[in-house]
Amino acid sequence: MKNFKGVASLIVAGWLGASALPVAAVELSSANIETALQSAYSKYKVLKEGANADYIPALAKVDSNLFGIALVTVDGKVYSVGDIKSEVSIQSISKVFTMTLVMDESGVESIANNMGVDATGQVFNSIVAIEQYKGAEMNALVNPGAIAATSMVKGDNYDGIWNRILDKYSDFAGRKLTVLEDVYQSEAATNQRNRAIAALMSAYGHIKTDPVRATDIYTRQCSVGVNAKDLAQMAATLANAGKNPLSGKQVMNADNVPETLAVMATAGLYDDSGKWLYKTGLPAKSGVGGGIIAVAPGKFGIAVISPPLDAAGNSVRAQKAIADVSNALGGNPYQVSAQ
Ligand code: GLN
Repeated sequence: MKNFKGVASLIVAGWLGASALPVAAVELSSANIETALQSAYSKYKVLKEGANADYIPALAKVDSNLFGIALVTVDGKVYSVGDIKSEVSIQSISKVFTMTLVMDESGVESIANNMGVDATGQVFNSIVAIEQYKGAEMNALVNPGAIAATSMVKGDNYDGIWNRILDKYSDFAGRKLTVLEDVYQSEAATNQRNRAIAALMSAYGHIKTDPVRATDIYTRQCSVGVNAKDLAQMAATLANAGKNPLSGKQVMNADNVPETLAVMATAGLYDDSGKWLYKTGLPAKSGVGGGIIAVAPGKFGIAVISPPLDAAGNSVRAQKAIADVSNALGGNPYQVSAQ
């Protein structure tokens, strides 16, 4: 189907005397985007696989039927289907944006030098992964590296650090985001494992400030409420060299976007990142709240919210819906047409 459409577009482009026109540019029309979103929505609306995360008690209570898809193009067009008003907690998707903040503040190599930029091949809160390389040669998108990244954000005190983080996320989303207090309270009361992870990262020298405070700020950043459109706008900002396509604000250093996307491609879906990249070619990031963002560089950002997760902690419907939409729209950056 996809190949057929690609060939058809090339033929049309040839007729028009514009054979150098990239296939994807032809396919990324409003009509094609709307059709792709609608078809993924109806196809997966009925899918009932997976289960809400329940190790954070508040997440088990979120409506499992929530399902929304949003796509924002780099020229600022917004498309959506399903439930795009309801907020879920951003969870691990936040890790991307804290990482970009640290890269911007302390240099892109600060992340590579502290926690590394390699996949662990382990679950996101693995302690074995820390032990293997003493907290290095991992990445900022699994809990140990993410808590260490949060500890690197500049600021004089808790509030100073927190405000920088929340303002940054808000710039990416294009609106002032807030914390879902019930989620924060619920995770703060049950995050013994993350406190242990932070203590270990501190023992190995990767957290240089108070690890208890770093874990608490990290827990708060994971509790920020977002809807599907917020997430798609955040992803679209990454797709657009760090410039928010709707607000027009340059919210991160454009030079650091390739490294950010590389870490997402390597580790965005934890130990299933390889399978995901194989199917879609897209840098992406999931969260246990049920959201996934994916970035088609230079084209669009897409996000899906659907709380039921698979065994790796990735939303089942979000993975399937994003893969279908992106593949229908020529989003895979590795798929090009011969010249
Ligand atoms: N706050 C969650 C945790 O630390 C985030 C995990 C996730 O989304 N994968 O466990």
